[in-house]
Amino acid sequence: MSAGTPSTVPAEPPGLAVTALAGGVGGARFLRGLLAALRTSEDPARQRARVTVIGNTADDITLHGLRISPDLDSVMYTLGGGIDEVRGWGRSAETSGVADELAAYGRTPDWFTLGDKDIATHVVRTQLLAEGATLSEATRVLCERWRPGVDLLPMTDDPVQTHVDLAPVAASDRPADAGEAGDRRVHFQEWWVRLHAAVPARAIVPVGAADARPAPGVLAAVRDADVVVLPPSNPVVSIGTILAVPGIREALRTTAAPVVGVSPVIGGSPVRGMADACLASIGVPTTAGAVAGLYADFLDGWLVAPEDVGGVEARPGLTVRGRPLLMSSPAATRALGAATLDLALELRAPEAAA
Ligand code: GDP
Ligand code: CA
Repeated sequence: MSAGTPSTVPAEPPGLAVTALAGGVGGARFLRGLLAALRTSEDPARQRARVTVIGNTADDITLHGLRISPDLDSVMYTLGGGIDEVRGWGRSAETSGVADELAAYGRTPDWFTLGDKDIATHVVRTQLLAEGATLSEATRVLCERWRPGVDLLPMTDDPVQTHVDLAPVAASDRPADAGEAGDRRVHFQEWWVRLHAAVPARAIVPVGAADARPAPGVLAAVRDADVVVLPPSNPVVSIGTILAVPGIREALRTTAAPVVGVSPVIGGSPVRGMADACLASIGVPTTAGAVAGLYADFLDGWLVAPEDVGGVEARPGLTVRGRPLLMSSPAATRALGAATLDLALELRAPEAAA
């Protein structure tokens, strides 16, 4: 081809812009399946997809002077190949030398597991923040190492922390290690990790959310997406806290992209973990239909387990589909990712999909 001859090579079709909201372990597992489904697809638009993840930061906590972002780290480690596959969180092949030494000094709390390798992540994050970086910038630096294959955006760079108002409980009903639990407010991590959500919550409050601003790129990622996905993350303390940042819910309502979610509840059970305790605290039953109700103002598609299809109230504008939802193997999780994309692409406005 001589200089100046116009190229006849057809332009490659653009990759799909996929945006997901995510909590920690459940979100991260699902995202790994979604990425696997995209990369192994025969559709060039899916193969070349760009995935943006809006991560929950309301679980964040400062311990021993270190800023810990458990959900961002679960996504980063899982997609970057550093996760402990058995636990589903934290670093693989982890040791606890630092935590043992802190305990020897009597430093508390001792109920939050901090592995040695994981601590390095928190040291880097804390240092960057102390130097004036935003959480978005610190996350970008950490992801330079892990290359998770997605753009990982914190929901906000502003401080938001989920706190839990514990219900008063009779002394005889308290868990053995609950101390003075009951009728007081604790950080979500203390309720979840130390008390195993065994003390009922009167309220779950995303402190700071009302004044938080979406981090740079968050609203645009929802607005400009071809497809928006809600993984089966905890509807109260993962997705619910992201939705509590002003502007994000509105962006989901108004985006032209279909919003498709995966139920975190299968047959009346939250599968793994204690999400039913969170739903109970806001008076919502642990059913796939009730969770869909929390997203009713923006949800276009809802994947539920086959046995749950009949339990989801029909509503104009909502397509419900039954699929196996258990993320029990890489193949099953990839199939779930593919089913989510299939439903979303079906629901795309015909003119947008053309
Ligand atoms: P966390 O921040 O680490 O608690 O993780 P997420 O909020 O992202 O996800 C936790 C939720 O994932 C749990 O509350 C479960 O309801 C859901 N979950 C866990 N395993 C599965 C699974 O195999 N299938 C489905 N559909 N949901 C799951
Ligand atoms: Ca979490």
